[in-house]
Amino acid sequence: MDSRGRGRHTTAVHAGLTIEPSATEPLAATICQSSVFAFPALDLVDAVYAGEKTGYIYTRYGNPNHRMLERAVADLEKAPAALSCSSGMAAAFAVVAALVDAGSHVVAAEGLYGGTYSLLANELPRFGVSVTFVDVADVAAVEAVVGPNTRLIFVETISNPLLRVADIPQVADIARRHGAKLCVDNTFATPYLVNPIELGADAVIHSATKYLGGHSDVVAGVVAGEGEVIGRARRLAQTVGTTLDPFAAWLTLRGLRTLSARMERHCRNAQAVADFLARHPAVRHVAYPGLPAHPEHALSSRMFRGGFGGIVSFELGGGAEAAAFVKSLAMCRFAPSLGDVATTVSHPAKTSHRQVPVERREAMGIGEGLIRLSVGIEDVADIIGDISQALERV
Ligand SMILES: *Cc1c(COP(=O)(O)O)cnc(C)c1O
Repeated sequence: MDSRGRGRHTTAVHAGLTIEPSATEPLAATICQSSVFAFPALDLVDAVYAGEKTGYIYTRYGNPNHRMLERAVADLEKAPAALSCSSGMAAAFAVVAALVDAGSHVVAAEGLYGGTYSLLANELPRFGVSVTFVDVADVAAVEAVVGPNTRLIFVETISNPLLRVADIPQVADIARRHGAKLCVDNTFATPYLVNPIELGADAVIHSATKYLGGHSDVVAGVVAGEGEVIGRARRLAQTVGTTLDPFAAWLTLRGLRTLSARMERHCRNAQAVADFLARHPAVRHVAYPGLPAHPEHALSSRMFRGGFGGIVSFELGGGAEAAAFVKSLAMCRFAPSLGDVATTVSHPAKTSHRQVPVERREAMGIGEGLIRLSVGIEDVADIIGDISQALERV
């Protein structure tokens, strides 16, 4: 028996579960790692399920850590509402599936992230949804493929890996005139550079695995947007269970607090790396919106604030050169992700775009010699020094 007259089995099950009252509050966000919430009375059940009283029920439907992260991303993206998801792909699925029905048509940017391309090109048609891919830099081409059944236009602010920049106000205008919704994947740009909602988008998605989290220690996704779109996506996400773990939500929020400090350095370092690569004789081509030669440099200068992002792609002579470069790096590591505080290198043809058929990949300009750098927040001399010595061996 314990001091409250309970047997040792009961003590083990029930002891220590409540927080002692305190005159002070934790400064950091707390973690609510509970899958379910206890109701003090049966008459509250109907009221909470009906939404007349606010209360959490079950973590697949929502959890305090989801709400904290969703509030933060909604505020950063200047959106009325947001929904957290178990990954960036779960966020893409939630918003796409919420907005289309059998018979709907989707217009999507050529050169989307490989997973998003696969969702749209391979999965949606099985549910009676047709998709047209188009060069979104060509606004007339977008206008030409939008039809009466087009319900959704899906673009990336900065495309992966070729870093083309979408004219969000113009595409939003086309969507509005045709009664379609515009969803923008803002993963590469982050809300530090631009808020697509302010420019007319209906929804924004993030792979929070990348810059929002920022430390390669969490997989998460978020959709932000107008209340009605988020409400539909939330009902769908609750049904299919694309739920973010509360600890992952907490980690993402922790990362988010340094987003602007990190982005400021990512942008500054990436610009310096792009300038260096653009002058290097072993480099055939550099893609970075901050370079005057970039096709959307003027648009990016208007649309972005504080820089041009942390990703730089460049073209070497071919696959052998790319392999030699990656092998010779001493500090920068090869990792098929991006947005870490450390500089990482990726090879799109072998990683993010391996699901895209080879002919299509080549047509998109994603060859075996293409390298994508996620420029970190280290001292820029150390980043350039490592890249420079590796280029010597190419
Ligand atoms: C990584 C990424 C995704 C997918 O996000 P996950 O968190 O890996 O599911 C979607 N869009 C872009 C632009 C990405 O870089």
